[in-house]
Amino acid sequence: MRNSKIIIIGGGLAGLTAGIHLSKKGVSVVIVEKNDYPKHKVCGEYLSNEVLPYFEWLDLNLSSLNPVNINEIELSTKKGTTIKTKLPLGGLGISRYELDFYLYKKALFYGCKILNEEVENIYFEKNRFSVTTSNNTLLIADFVIGAFGKRSNIDLRLNRNFIQQKSPWLAVKGHYSLNFPNDIVGLHNFNGGYCGVSKVENNVVNICYLAKYKSFKEYKNILDFQNLVIIQNPHLNKLFNNATLLFEKPLTISQISFAEKLQIENHILMVGDTAGLIHPLCGNGMAMAIHSAKLVSELIIDYTSNAIKTRMELEKQYQKNWSSNFEKRLKFGRILSKILLQPTLSEIMMRIIIMFPFALKAIIKKTHGKPITINEH
Ligand SMILES: Cc1cc2nc3c(=O)[nH]c(=O)nc-3n(C[C@H](O)[C@H](O)[C@H](O)COP(=O)(O)OP(=O)(O)OC[C@H]3O[C@@H](n4cnc5c(N)ncnc54)[C@H](O)[C@@H]3O)c2cc1C
Repeated sequence: MRNSKIIIIGGGLAGLTAGIHLSKKGVSVVIVEKNDYPKHKVCGEYLSNEVLPYFEWLDLNLSSLNPVNINEIELSTKKGTTIKTKLPLGGLGISRYELDFYLYKKALFYGCKILNEEVENIYFEKNRFSVTTSNNTLLIADFVIGAFGKRSNIDLRLNRNFIQQKSPWLAVKGHYSLNFPNDIVGLHNFNGGYCGVSKVENNVVNICYLAKYKSFKEYKNILDFQNLVIIQNPHLNKLFNNATLLFEKPLTISQISFAEKLQIENHILMVGDTAGLIHPLCGNGMAMAIHSAKLVSELIIDYTSNAIKTRMELEKQYQKNWSSNFEKRLKFGRILSKILLQPTLSEIMMRIIIMFPFALKAIIKKTHGKPITINEH
């Protein structure tokens, strides 16, 4: 057994899941996370059920967090044409505030060290990593897992390709008090973006939308944008008119990039959004983050047991596994988002779906994975 030390940069879904998997198997893990727990995050908070077999294997039981079961989807175009169908696999409505905090506590329980600092630099020399933080901590490791999310100072340090390009997307999320069914996720189109609506625990409704910066910047603030653009969709009009915001103000993030990324850079093994972000309309980013954590953890465990002999072999295998699991989903998500943002195309797509409802299920299947199977690792 090789005694490898692992540093995970970022303690979101991907980082915490990899930390739990590896430390449960006796591998020494340090997670470095710059933010405190618990914390609200911009996210639609619909978690595909495909992760459940893997979570069960990790002894993670989300029922203690009281998530809601979501098994239907309702789509509307900006003019208000609607279709509703059953979700092939369904999912859970669970806030990131609760979910990430739960995984954080589990990671500590299984023996992960969690350092509340910001990573500043990562060096790879003589087959080892040195990682430095803003508090001047120096950490040494055999492997570094990059789980630092959509956009981070580390992307700049590594001079990653996508960071050079301007990204036109921004997102807004709030928790609301609103009369809304437990079992439905709504996906509603508006001029220059789309909005997800679904329940999380404690009878709270999450409304989260993604908009093109170009259409947003013509308005003075979020409220004007909501009142003048978003509520042109009659469904969103009704929802926003009846909703009471539970946050002091909605959370926002900008510069969201859906560009292709490399999954391994400077020998760092990227997971979750750091490896590639799927369009949120697919509702699969969280499941992909968790699944990619499983892929990387399994290979590191194979390396520690000598089933994989070299770093090069491990990297090659990770690249192969990542691509075969996620590449098609990401491509399909990009195409779908383009269609949704073209008013004529999106109306045509909705008409086709209304005539052939099974087409919607086929589309959903293309953007989701199958339940995550377990190979004993
Ligand atoms: C608008 C929107 C809606 C979405 N809705 C859904 C949805 O409904 N369902 C779904 O499945 N997916 C959804 N997603 C996608 C989902 O949110 C992400 O795919 C998921 O959060 C990825 O998890 P992650 O662990 O890769 O990244 P994150 O959860 O973002 O974690 C990254 C962590 O790294 C930390 N970090 C960054 N840099 C450093 C550093 N230098 N040092 C230390 N720590 C660092 C950050 O603080 C953060 O905690 C949505 C995304 C967006 C933008």
